[in-house]
Amino acid sequence: MSDDLTALFDFDREGLRAWFAGQGERPFRADQVFQWVHQHGAADFASMTNVSKALREQLAHRASLALPEIVSDQLSADGTRKWALRVAGGNCIETVFIPEDDRGTLCVSSQVGCVLDCAFCATAQQGFNRNLTAGEIVAQLWIARRALVASGLDAHAITNVVLMGMGEPLANFPNVVTAMRVMLDDLGYGLSKRRVTLSTSGLVPEIDRLAAACDVSLAVSLHATRDELRDQLVPINRRFPLVDLLAACRRYVEDSPRRRITFEYVMLDGVNDSERDARDLVRLLADIPSKVNLIPFNPFPGAPFRCSTPEAIGRFRQILLGSNLVTITRKTRGADISAACGQLAGEVVDRTRRAARMAQRVLPLRVA
Ligand code: SF4
Repeated sequence: MSDDLTALFDFDREGLRAWFAGQGERPFRADQVFQWVHQHGAADFASMTNVSKALREQLAHRASLALPEIVSDQLSADGTRKWALRVAGGNCIETVFIPEDDRGTLCVSSQVGCVLDCAFCATAQQGFNRNLTAGEIVAQLWIARRALVASGLDAHAITNVVLMGMGEPLANFPNVVTAMRVMLDDLGYGLSKRRVTLSTSGLVPEIDRLAAACDVSLAVSLHATRDELRDQLVPINRRFPLVDLLAACRRYVEDSPRRRITFEYVMLDGVNDSERDARDLVRLLADIPSKVNLIPFNPFPGAPFRCSTPEAIGRFRQILLGSNLVTITRKTRGADISAACGQLAGEVVDRTRRAARMAQRVLPLRVA
């Protein structure tokens, strides 16, 4: 793409209206183009038949609808589908579609790699290169929907989006918020706020900012009930310990009584899966409207953990359920194509310099 062209995928509707105003065009023209791109999946300006020919030509000279290139498209035996997408700079990110009986969930990446170094995560081993642009985040939805329709699925097969792929979404706050606004917009993808979920490892100030910026569902990667252990599993805990994280969760649900937070808990054999851990979890979440997702650990090459036994997971779950905590044991999906939770790796180019810079910003206390 020429550097002179403006990437229209980077705008939410408000941003697109402002850009159109700068071109001397009225807001409804921006709405029409926005709807063509996101609702109808238009890939070029020529197909926007209710936009004047003069404006279409003008747009073709000034703006771009460029998309990441599909590098691979893999289908798991269980129907899970994973795309590797090449984004600017030669990096690859991954996006996963998980079909279920009552929903279709798209797991979207927000960064090229991740700097947060969670001990159980393949992305962390890739290092970090850069934040994705808002357009690169939205494009994952655009590309997946088009590919699913091409293989015979309904245009509404994607009912839910989770920002749970590569990266910490709240470390890329402005671009992630812009992208989620496009997902929620009735002229965009029209997803309800309950069906767009942002998953964070626990950036406390940004959880507070999110509540004001964009009303979506929140998931928190908890994984431990004691700071000593969480410091090791999710190192950002050294900066924002459990007491601060859980206080931010309470504030997040306070403003909107219907909100409930999903707590993700990866089950690691002999590490965090004891009956005492389960009872501590019940105690920690007692005053937060919560749902707990127990995630059987999905191994990756070099991983220092084993998955808890089915018996240990069952016992853990029963203790939570016995305390009326809504608890789901997540099914492992797409493991045969390395698409399961925690297995996304992509391909991160030049991971060292930028990683150091980003780490200074978000994670001054790194695990030695
Ligand atoms: S679990 Fe999420 S925040 Fe932690 S390293 Fe992996 S991608 Fe980053």
